Amino acid sequence: MGSVYDERPWKALYDDDSPAEIEPRFDNMLDVFAATVRDDPRGTALTYFDGGLSFAELDELSSGLARYLVERGLSRGDRMAVYLQNVPQFSIAVLAGWKAGAIVVPLNPMYRLRELTKILGDATPVAVVSSEKGWHEVLGGVARELGIDIAITTSELDLQSRHDQRLFAGSERAPAAGCADLLSVARAHGGPAPAVAISGEDIALLVYTSGTSGVPKGATNTHANVVFNAEGMRVRLEDRGPGGIFALAPLFHITGLVLQFAGSLAAGRQLDLAYRFEPGVVLDALAEHRPCFMVGPSTAYMALMNHPDVTRDHFASLVMVNSGGAPLPSAVVEDFRRRFGHYIRNGYGLTETTATATSVPIGQEAPVDEDSGTLSVGVPTHNTVLRIVDENGADLPAGEIGEIVIDGPMVVPSYWNKPEETAQGIRDGALHTGDVGFMDPRGWFYVVDRKKDMINASGFKVWPREVEDVLYGHPAVREAAVVGVPDAYRGETVKAFVSLARGASATAEELVEHCKAQLAAYKYPRSIDVLDELPKTATGKILRRELRDAAK
Ligand code: AMP
Repeated sequence: MGSVYDERPWKALYDDDSPAEIEPRFDNMLDVFAATVRDDPRGTALTYFDGGLSFAELDELSSGLARYLVERGLSRGDRMAVYLQNVPQFSIAVLAGWKAGAIVVPLNPMYRLRELTKILGDATPVAVVSSEKGWHEVLGGVARELGIDIAITTSELDLQSRHDQRLFAGSERAPAAGCADLLSVARAHGGPAPAVAISGEDIALLVYTSGTSGVPKGATNTHANVVFNAEGMRVRLEDRGPGGIFALAPLFHITGLVLQFAGSLAAGRQLDLAYRFEPGVVLDALAEHRPCFMVGPSTAYMALMNHPDVTRDHFASLVMVNSGGAPLPSAVVEDFRRRFGHYIRNGYGLTETTATATSVPIGQEAPVDEDSGTLSVGVPTHNTVLRIVDENGADLPAGEIGEIVIDGPMVVPSYWNKPEETAQGIRDGALHTGDVGFMDPRGWFYVVDRKKDMINASGFKVWPREVEDVLYGHPAVREAAVVGVPDAYRGETVKAFVSLARGASATAEELVEHCKAQLAAYKYPRSIDVLDELPKTATGKILRRELRDAAK
């Protein structure tokens, strides 16, 4: 007898525009890319301020760089790290790595010595592709220390010059000692890509999951994993008019890599790049490139909405606006719709699910749970089953809160070099997420919190999300984060950190009263700190752990 999850109640919410099942055309990203190059060689593959590359040019440059990598001794399955912002060279490097048979390890350009040493020590790459700046500042030293043989550097555009003359005009420059210049070698090694056979099981990306949860682990996203969600993007964006995919999320994060970069290759749409998230620059780029789709964390939307220059026209070209990676308060969705006329589609996923695990089917809107005020994250994406389980792994009925388990073709097979964590987190191919949530009777899922973020106040469980949602409901609150702090009487008690909307004012006492009025007595924050800005990861996730430490 199957449980309620086996019956997939969410299937009724899907239709032809966003089908419950899809059949990927290929099993690896190189075949996906080759099909797009064949179909539309002159089509724009990416834009960068006022420059761009066609699919044929991207193909040629990446083949050239791949030949160089193979010549230098890189072989199939070797790791290649990429330490770049959202620049065209990122796309060239990842495709080149794949063409040479490499596993690409994206690195957050904000990582410094400690993080880089840890991650590269685990991934043991034979090649690195870095910005010149990053190489000189930190990566060069780490690479030498670790004996990484192949070093390729490139000059990233600084935001002021607005145009990478060298990339689009073809001039060359001398790289740092011991390094090759990316564009020079890509151009000098013309001809077809090396003959390396890639299959769906080959690891495409080794992505270290964000450090909000302690020790970084490398998720082994296979080509088949990546293709699955990239093909999902192609299907959803089919026949949806002109315009590209705007890279609101950073490309080194799974959302950027899969839904933006791989998605643009599968959909044959241009990827609009803007170096890195800078609200004013992003608004200019939206106005200039008129994309049809963007996806990013809720905090990016909040920053754009709060920018003094924002107008309805900035978002006028979009046909689909998605948010994922962090909780999306329903107040933000409503505000965005009222001011800009777009409904933000929530989505939930992890690095281990190669970005998307749930989405809101086209034509539907995610409901808000009446009791908690939490916005649903959607329903399981194509070919995927989510379950809510108890501590013993047994399915719980609809409406009951437990751990979210994800079973789908985009779940990674393992963590790199970590058999114990793999055995614990990925059982029979299903990912035990550590996220806590529930499903309603129609099949909509709700993320209540992270398991470890739960606050235990004298045995009463408090989920920070619920308190945060109440805080977000106050008109003066821009951002809110709630943590547990030690308390002599209750064991733990509730503390909040907030930042205020531009021009708004509210005292901590007022905000406490606002929460008190709406929450059970054990849930309202006993103290609230008002900060200018909450600390966040590079991808926009609020760093609860940092706040928790600060509160202690
Ligand atoms: P990452 O691997 O960096 O993408 O982080 C994944 C984590 O982000 C998940 O385990 C969730 O805790 C959180 N997350 C992602 N999407 C959402 C969402 N839509 N709502 C709430 N939390 C989310």
